[in-house]
Amino acid sequence: MGTMADRRPYIAANWKMHKTIAEAERFLDAFLPAVEPLVESVDVVLCPPFLALQTTVEACRGKRIGVAAQNAHEQAEGAFTGEVSLAMLAETGVSGVILGHSERRQLFAETDEALARKLPAALAAGLEPILCVGESESEREAGETEAVLKRQLDADLAGLGDDQLGEIVIAYEPIWAIGTGRTATTDQAAETIAVIRAQIAERDAAAAAATRILYGGSVKPANAAELLAQPDIDGALVGGASLDPEDFLAIVAAAATV
Ligand code: PEP
Repeated sequence: MGTMADRRPYIAANWKMHKTIAEAERFLDAFLPAVEPLVESVDVVLCPPFLALQTTVEACRGKRIGVAAQNAHEQAEGAFTGEVSLAMLAETGVSGVILGHSERRQLFAETDEALARKLPAALAAGLEPILCVGESESEREAGETEAVLKRQLDADLAGLGDDQLGEIVIAYEPIWAIGTGRTATTDQAAETIAVIRAQIAERDAAAAAATRILYGGSVKPANAAELLAQPDIDGALVGGASLDPEDFLAIVAAAATV
């Protein structure tokens, strides 16, 4: 297995349906100058809503900061009212796309079958997928966490060749910890990420050692350092605390010091 040293820390900001273009510009004005010394050692990725992507890409040009969308349709084009294709996203200059966020799965009926098509389509479009997986509270309490993650990973990664597994980023996001202020304990997060890594290793050990696996769920400046110090936790997908430039900067700074 690879060591943490092989995997650069990766901190992503999921803004969800927050920030107009003007609000994104205000964040970028405050955040970009301050984060500059940290991007030498941390991969930083901003995930604004679709309409703020172009502005964010332009502001981040030449700055070693990634920009990712929060969803995409898997088809190249067609009668899919309200959807956005991967080619449309790639044209804006984004570097990646979040896929399978639990809010997409729960509120918008995103299926594992669709994700199996979205992942290879994203790689074909030159975008880095950030695949989100995670169990609900009742699934954890029933002792089903490992089985749920295996089911999600088997289904969602079905369209990728073993040689492509190392090209994606995975975010382990226990649904009960998202936006609730209830963080998984450091041990829970590290143990579950180790389970995910072992499941990927069943298909390809080298890919499993290379794949960044993030934790997401109420990561804040106050708990980031402890979580990120775990060798198996390669970074964080941050929702609420990524909306404020100082809070998000503090989380990136925590990643830079581990
Ligand atoms: C998320 O939705 O990806 C997330 C982790 O949200 P929060 O940090 O607000 O729990």
